[in-house]
Amino acid sequence: MLRFETLVSSGQGRNLSNPAPGFLNNCLRLVRSLLPQSCQLCGAEDVAGPFCAPCLADLPWLPRNRCAVCALPLASGSVCGACLEQPPRFDRVEAVFAYRFPVDALILAYKYGGRLALARGLGELLAQSVARDADAIVPMPLARGRLAQRGFNQAHEIARVVAACAGIPLLTSACRKMVDTPPQAAQPWKERAKNIRRAFVCDADLKGKRIAVVDDVLTTGATLNELARVLRKAGAASVHGWVVARTLPR
Ligand SMILES: [Zn+2]
Ligand SMILES: [Zn+2]
Repeated sequence: MLRFETLVSSGQGRNLSNPAPGFLNNCLRLVRSLLPQSCQLCGAEDVAGPFCAPCLADLPWLPRNRCAVCALPLASGSVCGACLEQPPRFDRVEAVFAYRFPVDALILAYKYGGRLALARGLGELLAQSVARDADAIVPMPLARGRLAQRGFNQAHEIARVVAACAGIPLLTSACRKMVDTPPQAAQPWKERAKNIRRAFVCDADLKGKRIAVVDDVLTTGATLNELARVLRKAGAASVHGWVVARTLPR
């Protein structure tokens, strides 16, 4: 059985957010493409992608029956009660996995355990799962303080992979997060929407553009909702969330 410690301790070198010159990045990409890959979960050698087929099949894929807006799994119907009652500012969320083991452990290992190479596998899976119907991709911004603490923006690194796979421009500096809000996971549910209010600034002219916001995890949707409000104010015609994993209610 896979353990979180295994994921963290097999950490690989940092090479991402403060971008190396393009030439160096291209060299790294070439070297990686020539090396046989091993499964990021069980370590099986010579696999075609980031995970071997049995590990891939065992991942907690989000069920097909889900809310067309927020991606919450549904027993019946197409839009959940919450989205019907109070439609969010974003149009739709596309999520690949439920935020459950081992995806939760992978994402924690990626964010806090130095497994930055996981951005590639997670980004590729996300790119394969979404409709790719966007004119531009915006990574979920991270406040400056948090960025300094972590050394990289986890959403940005995944967004970079998605943008390259999907051939969609990545707007790296269109939006900023001005307020370093407490980690959403640590907040009581009702506090989250309140804390995130007015946290983002967008300088870009997004008139008529279909924007996809890439993030690692969607919890309540409060953060995406607030960013969508700001993106729409900047002219965005639509805002979709493309996320690796979605937290499910207990
Ligand atoms: Zn495997
Ligand atoms: Zn919903």
